[in-house]
Amino acid sequence: MCDYDNAIFRLATAQEAEPEDYTGEDGLLYCGSCRQPKEAYFAEGKTLFGRDRHPKECDCQRKRRETLEAADREQKHREEVERLKRKGFTDPAMREWTFENDNGKCPQMNYAREYVECWELMKAENHGLILWGSVGTGKSYFAGCIANALMEKEVSVCMTNFAAILNDLAASFKDRNEYISRLCSFPLLILDDFGIN
Ligand SMILES: [Zn+2]
Repeated sequence: MCDYDNAIFRLATAQEAEPEDYTGEDGLLYCGSCRQPKEAYFAEGKTLFGRDRHPKECDCQRKRRETLEAADREQKHREEVERLKRKGFTDPAMREWTFENDNGKCPQMNYAREYVECWELMKAENHGLILWGSVGTGKSYFAGCIANALMEKEVSVCMTNFAAILNDLAASFKDRNEYISRLCSFPLLILDDFGIN
């Protein structure tokens, strides 16, 4: 075996010992910190490549791995949320329209929270919301809160308005169908009538 093969072989079959590790009464390597075995014998006395044991995670190693995995999941989640927000908002300011930033002026805000909480049911039964009220009553903010909260749950939302859609449609004669099917592919499409008098 060349050195490279040797290294791979050691990696796969042997457990690196820390200075505080010790050999237990069963002949296996034990972790000096959590006192759990870092090796296990193959079942029924079998051997592999001349070895009777394989590495095993002790509690510290498992905790370290789980912490790394959780951090990795969290990073992937943040990246996905970021991607959805870039794709789904026509204006970056909408990212700030969240329940956390709500000033409490809109008494109906609890309906927005309910909509987010019951999203799976809303989606399954195709329930939408129609918001009406005069300018400045917080309809856009209300809708933005729903959009942000759902995106945080990795639901794809598009928040746009009729004026922007008409502009886009007018600009592209060829790709209208594609544009419309892209709009319809969002599980939630929010049409904010901002800009239409
Ligand atoms: Zn340990």
